[in-house]
Amino acid sequence: MLCAWRELAATARRTTAEGLVVGTSGNVSARVADTVLVTPSGVPYERLGDGDLCAVDLEGRRTAGSLTPTSELPMHLAVYRHTGARAVVHTHAVHATAVSALVGELPAIHYMTAALGGPVRVAPYATYGSDELAAHMLTALEGRSACLLQNHGTIAYGDDLRQAYERTAQLEWMCRVWLAAHSVPGRTPSLIPDGELARVQEKLKGYGQRPTPE
Ligand code: 13P
Ligand code: ZN
Repeated sequence: MLCAWRELAATARRTTAEGLVVGTSGNVSARVADTVLVTPSGVPYERLGDGDLCAVDLEGRRTAGSLTPTSELPMHLAVYRHTGARAVVHTHAVHATAVSALVGELPAIHYMTAALGGPVRVAPYATYGSDELAAHMLTALEGRSACLLQNHGTIAYGDDLRQAYERTAQLEWMCRVWLAAHSVPGRTPSLIPDGELARVQEKLKGYGQRPTPE
């Protein structure tokens, strides 16, 4: 459990180091069996040590640690209850948050849209930490591994912390690309058609290195 906690703390620190959040914004969690490790609420990530381990069960009852868990526990737990996720990353990344205030869905500006399951939806605004926000998020995540939260930020999940983080970074990058293309006066960006997104989704299953036979 300590090993998983250290990896979680390192991922949380990466969100600030790589500019996806400022201060104590955002939160990170990882599921180990029926335990969910979460960042504590309002604690700067660079201060997180082994003694700050914070764990809850799938109902949100604290099972380890004395710090108050993230205020976004409803979103994190909703993801674990409804998907096979092993890790969740929530950020207030600049370009993603800007896009969340402009559209109801991020237009498919790049083929990497397919890596997140299709065009990324924006969950309607609700107060941070609320059950309402968690419900909106779940709807927006249907068939996707990430969504935007209107006037708030991003949430992404994955099989591990690395994947949840990478998906978040890809989403922020795509939002940045769309904003750049969309801001050119008098021009409308072209988009990737649905059929092509489906083709890319298939092709991505074989992306990267294959294990070499012994
Ligand atoms: P916590 O510090 O409680 O995790 O809250 C940060 C946040 O991003 C709320 O939406
Ligand atoms: Zn937030």
